[in-house]
Amino acid sequence: MNRQYNNNNYQSRDNLVTCAFYNKIGACRHGEKCSKKHIKPTTSRTLLLSNLYQNPKLKTATTDDAEDELTPKQIQEIFDQFYRDIFVHFATTGEISQLVVCENENNHLNGNVYVRYKSETDASESMKQLNSEWFNGRPVHCELSPVDSFSEANCRAYETDVCSRGEHCNYMHVRKPTKKLADDLFKAQEKTRLLKRMQELIPKIKPEKEEHKNEVASLLSNPIAQHAVAEYQEKEPLESTTTSVVSQLFD
Ligand SMILES: [Zn+2]
Ligand SMILES: [Zn+2]
Repeated sequence: MNRQYNNNNYQSRDNLVTCAFYNKIGACRHGEKCSKKHIKPTTSRTLLLSNLYQNPKLKTATTDDAEDELTPKQIQEIFDQFYRDIFVHFATTGEISQLVVCENENNHLNGNVYVRYKSETDASESMKQLNSEWFNGRPVHCELSPVDSFSEANCRAYETDVCSRGEHCNYMHVRKPTKKLADDLFKAQEKTRLLKRMQELIPKIKPEKEEHKNEVASLLSNPIAQHAVAEYQEKEPLESTTTSVVSQLFD
């Protein structure tokens, strides 16, 4: 017993066990005071914006007036609006692969927003930008997060039914946007990306470079790209996907 105590006492900080909660979820209930080590990543595709989503359920819980209580439909509408706003904003600095919002009621997870980008460069550029901004009257605080799998971080009980640990559970209780909204946002992002890439490629096609022609042809085999080009032309969807058609589009 005594020996065990001595061992712990002389343990250097480098030998401390890493905190599994911080690694998996990017936040642990002990915060900076955790006895285990929180290893902050120096590069990551995931950003954490702590407490960004103001959960309306928490506001109504403190209001006495029953008439002020929001219906589940209203809560979903408020959330969808929030999700749309942050998605559109985060997408301006990089390509988003996942956007996750927690609705746990404990301090370290309450309203946490995790945005996972397709690349580490996009994430770090976005972090610089976001940390200079304000949201809802508060300065944004955003950091690189070690979370790389949301399925590991999610509370499975909450996802499928009710979590017996309640709103103070230490795994993510994820608030989901309406499916159609999420689908539309990701499709719009893809459309913008393809259009941008085609616009970059068009001038390069002219010197007859085969590699670029091939890339344009392959982009155009994607229905979203065809739709984007059709909208750009304000005509019906393209029937032909030849590079000669494409090269005229942006003239
Ligand atoms: Zn910890
Ligand atoms: Zn839970």
